[in-house]
Amino acid sequence: MHMSLSDVAAIPTHPSSYACIDLVNSRFTDYLGRGVHDRLPMQPWQTWFLRRHGLRVGRGERMPLQEMRRFRDELRAVLDKWSAGHRLTAADLRRMNHAIAAAEVRRRVVLDGGVPELHFEPSTHDWSWVMASVASSAVELMASSPPERVKTCANPDCSWMFHDETLNASRRFCSGQPCGNLIRIREFRDRQRRGRT
Ligand SMILES: [Zn+2]
Repeated sequence: MHMSLSDVAAIPTHPSSYACIDLVNSRFTDYLGRGVHDRLPMQPWQTWFLRRHGLRVGRGERMPLQEMRRFRDELRAVLDKWSAGHRLTAADLRRMNHAIAAAEVRRRVVLDGGVPELHFEPSTHDWSWVMASVASSAVELMASSPPERVKTCANPDCSWMFHDETLNASRRFCSGQPCGNLIRIREFRDRQRRGRT
């Protein structure tokens, strides 16, 4: 069965605290392998994503959809590679730098609870700034977390990426229902079948 955009809600029920993971997950496969969904063109998703990660674009700035999709693919490839324990190459860095360097920023000092803090501000609030911020969030993620904590749901049909924040890094699924239950039942049946033969 082919599923269309209207079959999914615009806002994900299992968002991440990392902008890069939320962007990567805007394209996701159905947990039963019935198709691929893309929330990127959905206006409510765009509004949600920007607000959630403290980003904004100027009025009338339309998302460059093809460019964002390409960026999202590259970001996923980099995060997948890194989480699998591979070293990033010069080409990977070039792609990340391309996104980060596309937005012109200035530094500004602001007071946070009386303590001076450096902020980066874009010269234009546009989608290049959004991509630069998302690429920065990927760098922050890789700099601050061990690769094995960046995971993809253990349901082979589900593409959902997440950052495992459990104490012993034991999380396997995007969520218990449906993915966790589905796979646990499958594993249980496999064990039973092997037990009988
Ligand atoms: Zn899943």
